[in-house]
Amino acid sequence: MQILVVEDEDAIADPLGEGLRREGFEVTRVGTGAGALEAPIPDLVLLDLRLPDLDGTEVCRRLRARSDVPIIIVSAKGEEIDRVVGLELGADDYVVKPFGFRELLARIRAVMRRVRPEEGDDVLRAGRLEVDVRARRASVGQLELELTPKEFALLTLLAGDSGAVVTRERILREVWDTDWFGSSKTIDVHVASLRRKLGDARWIETVRGVGLRLAPQP
Ligand code: CA
Repeated sequence: MQILVVEDEDAIADPLGEGLRREGFEVTRVGTGAGALEAPIPDLVLLDLRLPDLDGTEVCRRLRARSDVPIIIVSAKGEEIDRVVGLELGADDYVVKPFGFRELLARIRAVMRRVRPEEGDDVLRAGRLEVDVRARRASVGQLELELTPKEFALLTLLAGDSGAVVTRERILREVWDTDWFGSSKTIDVHVASLRRKLGDARWIETVRGVGLRLAPQP
């Protein structure tokens, strides 16, 4: 997923871009409103309101005039007036600086879920693997997998972005609902069991120090 970060301050844009890339997003960054309007339309825009050339609200309005791209406005504390204006201009959400990275991530995911409600997303496919999210069933070819709820959630998360690395932090957060990184061992236990059930350990690759990747096997 491609995120366009429109932010003129390196001190904010650099760590933000780095954090988003670690979460598996592709990040393009521009430092001006003109740059934002020239950039290819991404999957989501993080838009700072105080830009050196154009007002962020104007950028928002122009982006909205030509596309439905989700826009999250990022602004400094106390600019409450901008909140109303921003949302009226068609922004999808609003965060106030300084914001926590986790909070921003949650907003990004919430906005994406809203604008793409389960986009073809009920049945995930990766090679012979099929995960029917709604029916809570998973199968490899003709073989129906009997999974525990956590195994199912883990497999759904991996199959949702087959081939991409899903970080351990994200797995803990989305499957176990915790930020307690100490519980990584828990992941290993479930992965081992899931690999057994998939019938070939190579279905789930461990990317050392980063996370896991679903690698469809023939
Ligand atoms: Ca700024």
